[in-house]
Amino acid sequence: MTEGIHRIEVPTPFAVGRVNVYLIDDEPLTLVDTGPNSATSFDELTNGLAAVGHALEDIELVIVTHQHIDHLGLVSIVSQRSGADVAALDVAVPYVQNYSKEAQKDDEFARAMMLRNGMPEDVVSALSAVSQAFRAWGSSAEVTRVLHDGEELRFRDRTLQVHHRPGHSPTDTIFHDAERRMLIAADHLLGHISSNPLITRPIDGSTERPQALVTYLRSLEATREMDVDLVLPGHGDAVTDHRTLIDERFALHRRRAEKIHRLVAEEPRTAYEIAQAMWGNIAVTQAYLTLSEVLGHIDVLKNEGRVREVEAGDNTVFEAQPPL
Ligand SMILES: [Zn+2]
Repeated sequence: MTEGIHRIEVPTPFAVGRVNVYLIDDEPLTLVDTGPNSATSFDELTNGLAAVGHALEDIELVIVTHQHIDHLGLVSIVSQRSGADVAALDVAVPYVQNYSKEAQKDDEFARAMMLRNGMPEDVVSALSAVSQAFRAWGSSAEVTRVLHDGEELRFRDRTLQVHHRPGHSPTDTIFHDAERRMLIAADHLLGHISSNPLITRPIDGSTERPQALVTYLRSLEATREMDVDLVLPGHGDAVTDHRTLIDERFALHRRRAEKIHRLVAEEPRTAYEIAQAMWGNIAVTQAYLTLSEVLGHIDVLKNEGRVREVEAGDNTVFEAQPPL
């Protein structure tokens, strides 16, 4: 336990492994995220609560950090059993209240994007099927406390400042305890792996592909400025030196961008071809992550004027600019 916050590691059926649920032992008694909607996850969550002297029914507030299924899946059952308030950032409210419908719209957006970027039809269909099958690990609940960027959440013993930090997803929200120099960061900053800047349907209704990595790097800059000693992430162990870690992430993304620039300087390629050249034939379930990675770095290079996109039939192809 750190400063009245317990970590409960809840299992997920996803490649990422366990997800961190945090219990803030304060008034209101608060859960940050819930884990995915499965019997195993539910059992481990209730056992984890019991181990620190609480029952599910005691929970008074559930905070959802972002729209991903491994974080919000149990929000329905937890809020129903406990009668807890449910808090989420304004832009995340549609996901919490109508998970299935929003996820379906995300999948349609992703499908068009994958095909445009050269991913073979059978891989796209396989990914859509996987996503459909996972839909049951989500759930919905009414948001009774809508949060806004910059506001304060007050507890008996602490105050958390709410900040919108999009990039990993469009709805990423972090919670800053300035007095304790502590940050609940969810998937915005992870210690053991770099956070995926997943390309996701824009929340403003626009149909253009969002620059997820560019947005993410901007969000990381803002977090780097924060004076904190401890970061509690959504997966894995706490981070104690966030500036060094963020600088490592900046260096990683710079190296990746340069590698991708070399690949498109060799010959014009689709994003899918670049992903294959970078990582070979990876598991189908990782195909969307790697495509997002490639397009994110392409956006960085495009903004620097070093890569341009060309339409070639139904596909988008990227080439070095100016031609070498
Ligand atoms: Zn996530």
